[in-house]
Amino acid sequence: MIRNPIPWPNGAKCAVAITFDMDADSLIHIAKPEDAHERLYPISMGRYGPMVALPRILDTYRRLGLRQSFFIPGWCLETYPDVAEAVLKDGHEIGHHGYLHEDPVKTRGAQREWFERTLDVHLRICGQKPQGYRAPVYNITQEVVDLMIEHGMRYDSSMMADDIPYQLQTANGALYEMPVHWGTDDWPPFAHYDEIGYMMPVAGPSHGLSGFWEEFEAQYDAGGFFMLIIHPFLTGRLARWKQVEAWITRTRDTRDVWFATLSEIADHMDTLQRDGIWHPSVETLPYYQGPVLGQKE
Ligand SMILES: [Zn+2]
Repeated sequence: MIRNPIPWPNGAKCAVAITFDMDADSLIHIAKPEDAHERLYPISMGRYGPMVALPRILDTYRRLGLRQSFFIPGWCLETYPDVAEAVLKDGHEIGHHGYLHEDPVKTRGAQREWFERTLDVHLRICGQKPQGYRAPVYNITQEVVDLMIEHGMRYDSSMMADDIPYQLQTANGALYEMPVHWGTDDWPPFAHYDEIGYMMPVAGPSHGLSGFWEEFEAQYDAGGFFMLIIHPFLTGRLARWKQVEAWITRTRDTRDVWFATLSEIADHMDTLQRDGIWHPSVETLPYYQGPVLGQKE
């Protein structure tokens, strides 16, 4: 069971969001800024995302009539503007995912500049401000939460405090949280990336994906929320995406699920609250005012 389940539209048993983080080659440029431009293997691995996987993924969504959420760093929007245009043309959502995939913990104190630079790119390339944000490597900080609220954004998707969407409350305002977790992220099974510190055995497609489908079954039984956090250059590869597409098709045809973008889920939560039908669980931030061991005397 889950606490406080969300009544989904039309009595659906579970909301499903297949979200993509389209990082492309931003990962190598932020990790190795001095010589990334000469590292052709990781650049090419990243470029597989926008150039090969994204058209494949969009084709699947078009055929199945799905709209979903994509998180794309600002630099990737500038570098691959055709991809941004194709994603928006099909009615999908693009969320804020940093400028060059900078880690908010490593850039602490300087996030305003990175964050607002990215908002400017969204306005220029996408013609609109993003409604949601996912922190690179999930490393969200209070600094970023405050910036999101200041800029009127609606949801974050980087934290892990519940099974289903909930609310983040701060002194300055509130956001929804669309919670992630590592069991529904394709980085552990499929990433192998020595340059950024991941030396992992790569799982076979069905083995790597099977954990995701077990997560779905538990959420479905509980009337919950199933979200994948996946990357075009990993799960958009031929054999893996073939299996994901088959799963989406089978699930759409045989289960009572609501495929939605994260902003559509935020809209639905607004409506439920306004009508007094359901209210989210609340996490109050900041969690702590300072180090829990306190300052030295
Ligand atoms: Zn990312």
